[in-house]
Amino acid sequence: MGPSRRRFLHDSLATVGGLALAAGRATGASSHPEDHEPAYLRLARQGRLREVERQLREILAACRLCPRSCGIDRRKGKTGVCSSTARLKVASHGPHFGEERPLVGSGGSGTIFFSNCNLLCCYCQNWEINHRGDGRVVGEMDVADMMLDLQRKGCHNVNLVTPTHVAPQIVGALCCAVDRGFRLPLVYNTGGYDSLDVIRALDGIVDIYLPDFKYQDGALAAKYSSGAADYPEVAAAAIKEMHRQVGTLIVDRRGIATRGLIIRHLVLPHNIGGTDRFVRWVATELSPDTCVNIMRQYRPEHRARDYPELSRRLTSEEWEQAVAWARAAGLA
Ligand code: SF4
Repeated sequence: MGPSRRRFLHDSLATVGGLALAAGRATGASSHPEDHEPAYLRLARQGRLREVERQLREILAACRLCPRSCGIDRRKGKTGVCSSTARLKVASHGPHFGEERPLVGSGGSGTIFFSNCNLLCCYCQNWEINHRGDGRVVGEMDVADMMLDLQRKGCHNVNLVTPTHVAPQIVGALCCAVDRGFRLPLVYNTGGYDSLDVIRALDGIVDIYLPDFKYQDGALAAKYSSGAADYPEVAAAAIKEMHRQVGTLIVDRRGIATRGLIIRHLVLPHNIGGTDRFVRWVATELSPDTCVNIMRQYRPEHRARDYPELSRRLTSEEWEQAVAWARAAGLA
């Protein structure tokens, strides 16, 4: 890849919020944005979208939607680690301009922020939504309305933020929206603590996966993310499946993402996130072409100050080291 191509990708993946990044090559471009048909439309035509919805909804009866495998019946109002019944709760929706540029373009990424979370990190920057569950209970038809509203507003995609614990209800809302003319690509914006079975079920529904890969060490994942000791292997398996489904990032002529994978990795103080291991994993287990957003905006939020090692921002040396590791792995 020539320097100008690399420069384009570096610039295009950078976010408005000033996040630095490491990016490999994004694959070529679909010929024209209007040529791209979101994957779920095909499933809908085949009548299989409702089947997937039914399959996912059954999981709620003894919930194992995520690796926590709580086993409770959420349809009866029971709650597990994510504090969510079967009812959808949404904190907000609207065009968002702080995501990666291929998602934002000129019209914005159409975010829908779901309340609660299955990972629950002690340094969560959206703890009011994810831990406290701020938001309002809505029906699936309301979420379908939000999807259509974001489409009307000119967003380039619908960005499902923290979708893991509400995947069945999202597919239910999608079915309603498709019947009413929805056709934007779906972005699955997840913390990475996803069930492999659920990700497999989403094959053909999600066009753009946007997972975090937060830790490489299970003991650290357990310590800072509510006991999620199996996070490294679970996230690795889920992200590999996402990559198998959608491949590396594809952008159209305007630089807008139409399909593919972008992995986010937040650099943590004292290399708690294992950035060196993360970049090597991407290069060897996926491909150096994988688009990776290495993020430097860590700040101690929520309960981070209970942990002295997480009670400060990154130093410049830590950031430069992270970038050097990404370069050494061939990602930047
Ligand atoms: S989605 Fe929630 S209830 Fe279901 S297994 Fe995960 S944490 Fe438990």
